[in-house]
This record gives sequence, structure tokens and C-alpha cells, in this order.
Amino acid sequence: MSAPRLNLYDLTREQLRVQLVRWELNPVHVARLWNYLYIELVASLDAMPELPPKLRARLAAETQLGVLPTALETASSDGFTHKYLLTLNDAEKIETVLMRYTGRVTACVSSQVGCAMGCVFCATGQMGYTRHLTPGEIVAQAVHVARALKRSALSFQPSAPGGHPAARLRNIVLMGMGEPLHNYDAVMTAIDILRDPNGLALGAERITLSTVGVVPGILRLAQEMRPLHLAVSLHAATQAERAALVPAAKKWPLDELMAACRTYSETTGRRIFYEWTLIEGKNDSEAHARSVGELLRGLSAQVNLIPLNPTEGYAGVPTRSEAAKRFQKILADEFDLPSTVRQRRGIDIAAGCGQLAVVEARAG
Ligand code: SAH
Ligand code: SF4
Repeated sequence: MSAPRLNLYDLTREQLRVQLVRWELNPVHVARLWNYLYIELVASLDAMPELPPKLRARLAAETQLGVLPTALETASSDGFTHKYLLTLNDAEKIETVLMRYTGRVTACVSSQVGCAMGCVFCATGQMGYTRHLTPGEIVAQAVHVARALKRSALSFQPSAPGGHPAARLRNIVLMGMGEPLHNYDAVMTAIDILRDPNGLALGAERITLSTVGVVPGILRLAQEMRPLHLAVSLHAATQAERAALVPAAKKWPLDELMAACRTYSETTGRRIFYEWTLIEGKNDSEAHARSVGELLRGLSAQVNLIPLNPTEGYAGVPTRSEAAKRFQKILADEFDLPSTVRQRRGIDIAAGCGQLAVVEARAG
């Protein structure tokens, strides 16, 4: 059986340089190739006419450009959110979301097909785990969104706050399907590629990784001083309440998680975002607000409150906005803790947090 073709999106610029040397080609051509991949965002190997013939022949014979075909694209009714169902080489599917609002252009990318962590309220958790994504499959999602933006084929409303049709991809959140720290190495290689200043140039301030609380992964991020924003999905401030929502808490208990977060913030000097899915009657009372305030006391923290988005497998109800405001006010007044309430966007196309799951493509 022949070796699988090299996916160009799997390689950092340095790895690509090494590959050219291995092929006994002048590594100087990496710059042009990289430009094709990440500035011009070409969608095929044939669209690189300026490369020397020998390099083009190698690329054609031994590599592939892991462009992910779109199986389905949906846009929210307000036009600010687009969701892409993308097909992988082995016919598995993943979802990627483009969000354009409040002047930010953000791609929400997946790190796995499904997820092994089984959070009760999450559609991805409800579908179970199939496999990790490769670095190239993660990078290809960002490229897909960047290319869509570049084509400016999307019909955004002209009244978009701060929006204009030609805006380029500015931010990446690893908040799509999957648990990124369960797929650590591939995610970190993908981030290195996304950050490359000669390519998509999505630097430290532009990449946010959200984790369910994989303690060894958080400690490794700190040790390796990975340049990114870290978000930790908390949802509850006691071990028992958290384990009922997030089964992974049994493996990585709350006290170990908080110790890892402390180490992370002390080592990197970075503030952590703590995510809290607000579920009416479950974790949204004044007492809950105080318990999260106590838990985060002394930590460099911001709380991101996410009113529950509906999923088929969970009967919970989202907290009403007055209750969310009350929660926020307690954090601010009693604990001096900044917080935001995530706007409910893209819910009509199931593109909100925790709504990503691959169902058989249905017509919009
Ligand atoms: N696996 C990672 C990142 C993907 S989920 C993590 O769990 O952090 C991104 C965020 O969406 C997490 O904070 C997650 O808890 C939240 N989320 C999952 N299901 C949700 C739902 N139904 N409503 C609102 N937020 C949800
Ligand atoms: Fe996985 Fe995150 Fe969903 Fe939990 S919330 S099941 S960790 S994707």
C-alpha cells in the first residue's frame, strides 16, 4: 500500500522547509508556497503557478492540500453567524462556525470528531467520541473561514456593528466540537501554524482555547508557556454539583483543577476565563454566584456566563436574563470579579456553544 499523502496543512513553516531540503530543493521557495497557502488561500495545488516545476511535481506526486469540502452551509437569520458542515478525508464530518459581530470576526473550530467527555448538556458530548483531528484538519477549518471571508461571498447585513464585508479572520476560538486538551499535540501544532506571522498571523491575543478541565493539559500549557488565552469550563463550584454536569470532573476533581489553574496563572501571568453555562434552577442562584466568587477569590479571573443553549438530549432551561444580570452583579459587587454574559447568537441554526453535533444533513 502506498504511504498516505502528506497534507500540506499539517506542517509548520519550519517543517515545510525541512521537507523541501529532504526533496533536495531550495528551501527559499517555502516563502512563496506559504504565501499561496495562507495569504492567497489557494484551494488547489494547481493554483500555484509561480513555484519551480520540480517543486510542483513533488507536491503533485506526494502531497495533498487538505481542503475540506462543505457538505452544508447555514446562515443565522440575522446573518451574523455561518455554520459549515465540513467533510474529512474519511467521510467523517465536523462543524465550524464563523461569527461576525461587535466588530469581531471569529472562527470557532473543532478539535475532534465528537467528544469523549460527555458533559450532559452538550450536543457534542451526547454524540460520543469518534477520533482526534489532525493539525491539518484543524488548520483547514480556519483557512476555510478565511477563504469564505476573502471571497466576501457572504451576505452580511450592512448594518452589522463594525462589520464590513471584506473583514479578514481575526480570532480563533477552540470551542467547537471536541476537547482540545484531549488532542494536545495536534492542537498545539495547529496553533503554531495559525500563529505564523507570515501566514494567518493569529497571535497569542487572538487564540482562545476552552477546556473542560483536563488538569495535565493545563499544567503542560503553563510549563510550555503556550501563547494563548485559556478558558476553563467550570459550571459549578462544588465537586458534587460539577461531577453531575461534567463527568470528566470525576477524573480531574475540582480541587486539582483549581490548583492547576492557580499554577497556570502564576506561571504565565495570564488571566483565565471561567465559563459557566447558566441553567435555570441548577446553577444560577445567588448562592451559586457567591460560591463561584469564593472559589475564584484571589485568582486572576473573568467569568463568562453562557445561558444554556438547547440540545436534544438535555431537558434544562436557560437562565433568564434578569437572573443572569443578578448573578453578574453579585460577582462584581461582592467579589470584584469581571464577567460577561454571552450573547445568544446563531441559536436558530444550532451554532451556539454546545450545540455542535453532526446530524445527517437536512435541508435548511
Ligand atoms: N470541550 C471544550 C470546548 C468546547 S465547548 C469545553 O468543554 O470547554 C465550549 C463551551 O460551550 C464550553 O464552555 C461548554 O461547557 C459550553 N457548552 C456546552 N454545551 C452547552 C450548551 N448546551 N449551552 C451553553 N453552553 C454549552
Ligand atoms: Fe466535550 Fe466540551 Fe461538550 Fe463537554 S462541553 S462534551 S468537553 S465539547
